[in-house]
Amino acid sequence: MELTVLGCSGSYGAPAGGACSGYLVRTAGATLWLDCGNGTLANLQRHAAVDDVTAVIVTHWHPDHCVDLYGLHILLKYALGRQGLPVYAPEGTEARLGTLVDDDWGGVFAWNAVGDGATTTIAGCSLRFSRTDHPPPTMAVEIAADGKRLVYTADTGPAWSPEAFGPGADLVLSEATFQRHNELGRVHISARQAGEAARAAGARRLMLTHLWPGLDPTASVVEGSEAFGREVLLAAPHQRTRI
Ligand SMILES: [Zn+2]
Repeated sequence: MELTVLGCSGSYGAPAGGACSGYLVRTAGATLWLDCGNGTLANLQRHAAVDDVTAVIVTHWHPDHCVDLYGLHILLKYALGRQGLPVYAPEGTEARLGTLVDDDWGGVFAWNAVGDGATTTIAGCSLRFSRTDHPPPTMAVEIAADGKRLVYTADTGPAWSPEAFGPGADLVLSEATFQRHNELGRVHISARQAGEAARAAGARRLMLTHLWPGLDPTASVVEGSEAFGREVLLAAPHQRTRI
């Protein structure tokens, strides 16, 4: 399993091409696009052919996680002539986003609503979803394939933890929007909280992502590593990681 970061800027785009949340997960049988925040469609095309994408997973309908679905819709409809690309998203996402396309996606997406505890299999990958602590319906996802387990926290406050998927994930890709000094206590977590939660969940490795633009990422790594008990990884655009 390989993870490619398409974008990792928290909540809004960062300077110098820092796209919002998006990841490409490649397994022996699948190419999964996990969140399609602003800027990620452009970056994806440096790493994969759009026609090779097996399915899209949208964790929630906040714009920094989903707006490049619009560009994808146009590309599939007019450039590739493709229909029925599976999209997995929380209940209500199709209708919410549909207002900007006059509720007509032209059949390019096959929408699948996922809720807390949902499971599915996509091209040899086993997926599980868990509702996080974030205002709109938001689904963390575990992708298990090729003998490895990746857990992506999506966006979450401290009342949810990757422990929801059981212990021992090979990599937890965790939001770490804030730092100790500006923890909100809800909606998002800090690098410290990401480290503590991943440690409690027995994660083998932890990668921090979705850092608030302007915060010093080095400080987030130090804080997250202290809490995790080992050096954490830091997501960066176009970075590829073997899981
Ligand atoms: Zn976000």
